[in-house]
Amino acid sequence: MNYVSTRGSVANLKASEAIRMGLAPDGGLLTAETIPKFDPGQLSNLAQKSYHELATLILSRFLTDYPLADLQTMVQAAYSYPEKFDDPLITPVCQLNPQCYLLELWHGPTCAFKDIALQLLPHLMTKSSLLANETKEIVILVATSGDTGKAALEGFKNVPGTRIVVFFPNQGVSEIQRLQMVTQEGENTRVVSVQGNFDDAQSGVKQIFANSGLAQKLAGRNMAFSSANSINWGRLAPQIVYYFDGYFRLCRKQVIQVGDKINIAVPTGNFGNILAAYLAKQMGLPVNKLICASNSNNVLTDFVNSGSYDRNRKFYTTISPSMDILISSNLERLLYYLSEGNCTLVKGWMNQLKNTGGYQVDSSIAAKITADFYAGFATEDQTMAEIKRIYQETHLIIDPHTAVATAVYQQYQRVTGDSTPVLVASTASPFKFNTSVLQAIGETGLEGKSEFQLLERLEKLAGLKIPKSLAELSHKPVRHKELCRKEEMAAVVEQILGL
Ligand SMILES: *Cc1c(COP(=O)(O)O)cnc(C)c1O
Repeated sequence: MNYVSTRGSVANLKASEAIRMGLAPDGGLLTAETIPKFDPGQLSNLAQKSYHELATLILSRFLTDYPLADLQTMVQAAYSYPEKFDDPLITPVCQLNPQCYLLELWHGPTCAFKDIALQLLPHLMTKSSLLANETKEIVILVATSGDTGKAALEGFKNVPGTRIVVFFPNQGVSEIQRLQMVTQEGENTRVVSVQGNFDDAQSGVKQIFANSGLAQKLAGRNMAFSSANSINWGRLAPQIVYYFDGYFRLCRKQVIQVGDKINIAVPTGNFGNILAAYLAKQMGLPVNKLICASNSNNVLTDFVNSGSYDRNRKFYTTISPSMDILISSNLERLLYYLSEGNCTLVKGWMNQLKNTGGYQVDSSIAAKITADFYAGFATEDQTMAEIKRIYQETHLIIDPHTAVATAVYQQYQRVTGDSTPVLVASTASPFKFNTSVLQAIGETGLEGKSEFQLLERLEKLAGLKIPKSLAELSHKPVRHKELCRKEEMAAVVEQILGL
């Protein structure tokens, strides 16, 4: 399997090279040149496999230069129960009603779906160094608005040959998210809060990546920076697995038979998770519609419905913060596949996006998009009302990101009357967003309560146990107290690395 840049300047990379490189030098995304396929006859054989067997098999079709035995070992280490995941099924499926099933992607160590990719990525990266006889220590730098930083810290903690430095804004992460990071364990982890907002932290990290003097000093110490954000192919490939696994789980529950189609609804920000569902469909998973759900930052809803991408609009801060995005990076990979690998076209659109904030795809591509995707959005009020509706009807409590997806699925059903069974990607544990969720179901008297009192209140109402990793936060020592100004971030990195 060869990897190429979506903008055409790099081709013929091996998977391990694409994973180590992260982003192509021309600014494009590295992506599999073609999508491997299972033929329909293979599905009933796949249906019998465990999560780990499926993961090894699917990854082996994309990561062809990794030895199969190594993939197997990495998958076992990444998706271990009870060490890393609190459910032996890894991504269990929960029935909401006879048509609608939640694919629970939050049973990993940080209670958000990013664990599924970030538990595996460190293994893929360190193996990539071995395959290339590369001895440099990998230094992962992350700026986070909450979920990514913690998931990356847990993934890279104590992984030999790597270090990780995470910057988070001292304004803007939830209290649970802050506690998750400042209590982080591991010999090779450092967490620093930055005075300012997420943009300050992110632009600081981008400047460090672009700082050639620093890169030279780093090389002199036999180290190199790398990134763990969602444009790395090593984060995308592991996400394909759970759509197959969820489908086969519906087969085993006899909701469908092998070969029947399902719909898949995904709460979307950077377009990574839903792109993985699209790739699953291209690989042969029987899927009817992919339902792309946005919050008030509904740039993707407009794009799917009109073929015109326009980021020139108001940015909203919402109760589903991981979807507060106006530039959905992974969309570039979809455009590459839909244009049948026409890198010139893709590059043109991305240049327009950079220069004017928008672009328009031609009608044949727009038609392909609406053939595969339905898109809609939920406002803040609709998201809150959806959490309440589901609680009243089922006693299940879902997080705000998941609620955006079920709300948009409801709209889809009303518009189309389609009663095909649906898998909804449930991307975070409700405990991570306890205040919003408690408010949504009508709880009052939340002011002045500690995070742990809120967790306990939610535990009683939801009939769910507080995830162990969150319950432990109340008695974990704070290990990271560093605070810096954004101008000091590069100096802090130099000092941490002893440059
Ligand atoms: C990151 C995230 C999303 C958005 O996923 P994308 O792959 O960026 O589309 C949705 N929900 C939660 C909880 C997340 O952390």
